[in-house]
Amino acid sequence: MSRIAYVNGQYVAHAQAAVHIEDRGYQFADGVYEVCEIRGGHLVDERRHVERLVRSLGEIRIALPMPLAALKVVLRETIRRNRVRNGFVYLQVTRGVARRDHYFPDPSTPPSLVVTARAVDPAKGEAVAGEGIAVITAPDNRWERVDIKTVGLLPNVLAKQAAKEAGAREAWFVDREGRITEGGSTNAWIVTPEGRLVTRQADNGILRGITRTVMLQVAEQLQLTVEERAFTVAEALAAREAFVTSATNFATPVVRIDGLPIGDGRPGAVARALRENFHSFAEITP
Ligand code: PLP
Repeated sequence: MSRIAYVNGQYVAHAQAAVHIEDRGYQFADGVYEVCEIRGGHLVDERRHVERLVRSLGEIRIALPMPLAALKVVLRETIRRNRVRNGFVYLQVTRGVARRDHYFPDPSTPPSLVVTARAVDPAKGEAVAGEGIAVITAPDNRWERVDIKTVGLLPNVLAKQAAKEAGAREAWFVDREGRITEGGSTNAWIVTPEGRLVTRQADNGILRGITRTVMLQVAEQLQLTVEERAFTVAEALAAREAFVTSATNFATPVVRIDGLPIGDGRPGAVARALRENFHSFAEITP
C-alpha cells in the first residue's frame, strides 16, 4: 500500500509530497514539530503533544495552522489513510512560504502544515530494549531554547551521527559544567547506587519530553524516589542503571556510556518496570 502525506490542505502520495523551496522550514528551520505514538490504531498522549505544539508555536510566534479540532481530524485521517496500527505520526508547522528574508513574512502568510504517519514493528523496539543501548557523550552546543521543539536539529543530527559511527545509538549532551542535559532525541535518566531516580529538571536546557512527564507519574506510582536535577557524567558512569525516554523509545535501557558498562552492563529493573507500566499511564484517545 502506498503512503499518503498531508501537505497544506491536501492528502498526496508520499513519494510526491513536497513543500515549496521558499518554505521557511527549508530556508531557516523556522518551524516546530511533534511526534506522537500510534498504538492499536489510537494516538498516545495526543492532548499533551498538542499542548506542547501550541506552546512551541507561541514561543516563536507562529500562528496555529488550523483550529485544534481540525488538526486532530487531520492527524486521524493521515493515520487512517496510511492504515497504521502501531507506529508514529509526525507533524511539522513552519512560518510558511515567503521570499527569503529573515524578518517574519506578512502576517497574512499561512503557516505550512505537513503530517505523515509511519508504521513500525513494536517487536523491533522490544528487542532493542531487551539488549539495551550504548550512548556516547558529546558537548551540548545547542542554543539556549531547546525547550522549544524546533525543527532546527543540526547539533542533534551531528551528535547522533557521531554516536552511530562510534557503534552507539544515542548521544548524551554534556553542558559546560560536565552535567548531562539530555539525549539527541531522548531524555536522559539514571538510577543512583542508592536507588534514586534522577533526571534533569525541565527548564530551558532540555525538551520537556511527554514520555518524561508520564514516566514521572509511573515512578510515583511505583513509589520510586525521584530527583529532578542535573547529574554529571561521573555520576552516570557510577549509576546502578541508566535509560532514555521518548515517544519512540518509551524507556530504553542504556548499558554503556562512552564504552564503559553501566551497573552490571545489562538492562536494569527500574527501566524495565517503567517501560512495562508506561502505557497504563499514558492517555490513549480514540
Ligand atoms: N529530548 C529531545 C531533544 C527530543 O528530540 C525528544 C523527542 O523527540 C525528547 C527529548 C523526548 O520527548 P518525547 O518524550 O516527547 O518524545
